[in-house]
Amino acid sequence: MYADVIIDISHEKLDKVFQYRIPDGMLAHLRAGMQVRVPFGGGNRLRTGYVTDITDHTDYDPAKIKEIAQIMEESVPIESQLIALAAWMRRNYGGTMNQALKTVIPVKTKERLQQKRTVVLAVTDRAQAADMLMQMHKKHHTARARLLEALLDNPAIDYGIVLHKLNVTAAVLRAMEEQNIIRIKCEDRYRNPVAHLEQKGYRLTLNEEQQAVVDAVDAEFQAGQYGNYLIQGVTGSGKTEVYMELIARAAAAGRASIVLIPEIALTFQTVMRFYNRFGDRVSILHSRLSQGERYDQFLRAKNGELDVMIGPRSALFTPFSNLGYIIIDEEHETSYKSETVPRYHARETAFARARMAGASVVLGSATPSLESSYYAQKGLVRRFYLTNRAKADSTLATCQIVDLREELRSGNRSILSRTLQQLMEERLARREQIMLFLNRRGMAGFVSCRACGEVVKCPHCDVSLSLHNDGRLKCHYCGYEMRQVSVCPSCGSKYIGAFRAGTQKIEEIVRERFPAARVLRMDYDTTRTKDSYEKILSAFANEEADILIGTQMIVKGHDFPKVTLVGVLAADLSLHSSDYRAAERTFQLLTQAAGRAGRGTRPGEAVIQTYQPEHYAVQTAQAQDYAKFYEQELAYRELMCYPPVWNLLLVAVTSPSEMQADACSDAIGAWLRSQEMDMQVIGPTEAAIARVNDIYRRVVYIKSEDYEVLVRAKEGIEQLLAGHTWRQTGVQFDFNPMNGF
Ligand code: ADP
Ligand code: ZN
Ligand code: ZN
Repeated sequence: MYADVIIDISHEKLDKVFQYRIPDGMLAHLRAGMQVRVPFGGGNRLRTGYVTDITDHTDYDPAKIKEIAQIMEESVPIESQLIALAAWMRRNYGGTMNQALKTVIPVKTKERLQQKRTVVLAVTDRAQAADMLMQMHKKHHTARARLLEALLDNPAIDYGIVLHKLNVTAAVLRAMEEQNIIRIKCEDRYRNPVAHLEQKGYRLTLNEEQQAVVDAVDAEFQAGQYGNYLIQGVTGSGKTEVYMELIARAAAAGRASIVLIPEIALTFQTVMRFYNRFGDRVSILHSRLSQGERYDQFLRAKNGELDVMIGPRSALFTPFSNLGYIIIDEEHETSYKSETVPRYHARETAFARARMAGASVVLGSATPSLESSYYAQKGLVRRFYLTNRAKADSTLATCQIVDLREELRSGNRSILSRTLQQLMEERLARREQIMLFLNRRGMAGFVSCRACGEVVKCPHCDVSLSLHNDGRLKCHYCGYEMRQVSVCPSCGSKYIGAFRAGTQKIEEIVRERFPAARVLRMDYDTTRTKDSYEKILSAFANEEADILIGTQMIVKGHDFPKVTLVGVLAADLSLHSSDYRAAERTFQLLTQAAGRAGRGTRPGEAVIQTYQPEHYAVQTAQAQDYAKFYEQELAYRELMCYPPVWNLLLVAVTSPSEMQADACSDAIGAWLRSQEMDMQVIGPTEAAIARVNDIYRRVVYIKSEDYEVLVRAKEGIEQLLAGHTWRQTGVQFDFNPMNGF
């Protein structure tokens, strides 16, 4: 067995990983993250290094590999654990070690800790103090007397209160300090983003399904058998309560937990639930915290002041040295994939961190990602089901499909089908609430026929072609292109074109059709200012509006008991993005959208409008049949050699010179094709957007069943690049990308 070791982290050699043989007796003790002494360089001087990985293969001549000399410390300090994680990320996702370290270890900023200052009485002898007081009154030092009197009542008073309420000046305070009458105490006070909340200590009794999950996961945890779990629970089945109970039990055993939630779900509601249960043992990271506040929260975690850290993707790197659980809620969300280098996915990175730390990972979703389900199917993750809504009387919404082609045939050209309009009227009459959802994700201008629903697809890739500004239809995967069509290739209708409709337009239509209804709109435009997101949601929760219109941001995690109707205006918008995950996203969004209806006691209904009612993503979402969706989708991924069955590596080349971009991407393609590795190479080709701000973009795709092959392909490309210079040309890697390039 071999160990990957990075040497002496204060050195710029940081970027390189060296392999060492693990001596026989050492293997049982060695873990990633441990500090070791290794012979290094020509003189074989012993240097300190960190083990970043343990593997059974080596790329070098086994006879020439040196052995690890000794383990420095068997305990793994939290910093070296995170360094090991950074090294793992660099290897598995690309980028430099520096970029990985910056992602994992937050930068110390110069920003000083906010200080809490208190004025305290320094005189211990009360008789002496009383004497002083008399002297002060005699000399008409009224301010001093006032302060001393106050301190005799209350020996420590907040500095601000002394200044502003007792009206004692800083000069007077200084003088009294010099005379040793008072002292001014300074304490670091961590900026606590939730300090203004109040703990209520509430707790629900778990139902049988919830309890069974907690018992099973906790039993393994307490026995030190850490594992990876998936809780597949329908919307509203009480997954959050399960997480909280697991966290509480881990905390009782002295272990801390990280809870990742998509930024979009980081609402006051969620925060309150955790705060009610864990009080100031919980902290929150969110994008509006300053660098200093972030750093403080990490410090609190490191100092053992917290049991739970909640936050988006980056909270994964909270420096808990006693990590118990990493929980990833709504694990199917795309925001768990980083869009900057290193382009890590929080799920697999959580597995890696948990493995290093001896912790368990719990994934939760109503609509698990294909990846997680595939892991469960292969036995890598243990799956539990929650099949019922947790609240008594709450049941899943019924769901119907409306065929928009029919609507057109019967002369209704509105985006609101007759069925939806009628149901909306009923709800408005009953004073119940309605959500209208326009799924604009992936609206990269696919071209569809409004008469027959046909979408123009790439003949080679089975993804829809995108209409570009130059009027041509292009495939983002293989570069195939053709002229824009003016009649439908399958039915001859002239109602064919790129689908474009915005939330603003829909708001107009709704206001026109239902003039008496109160309408709110939530989309990118209406949520640009601070707090606007919360404001719209709370206005709707307070029933200040009847209809909420929005993009995908309205379908996540919110609990509005009065909503009994959800309309999905055009399911096709996500179905035909030029992306192999389009069907998965559509299924997830439709299921989540339907999950917003009927959260209270009144039954809910969902209407899915679509031009392609026969599509399996729409059909299975309507039937709320995850298993069937998974089966069909997996078959498609298998057939096309897409993740999670195969792995995909996107190599993106950018350059201000078109020639350089071509030369570099051609060289990469040629090198890859010269290798005898078990992989398929596609490209190079122009990227989906071939030029941005005069930077030319080229892509090469590599597919392999074995992730490790892709890692080695990446390493080979890195070496190739080190030996050449293509002026100002950048190369980036994206493993199992969530988005095209
Ligand atoms: P999920 O995270 O699966 O969508 P939540 O944990 O948000 O579900 O729970 C949905 C609703 O059901 C919440 O209002 C929650 O307070 C309630 N709930 C959860 N578990 C229970 C329970 N055991 N008894 C009563 N209500 C529950
Ligand atoms: Zn047609
Ligand atoms: Zn193609």
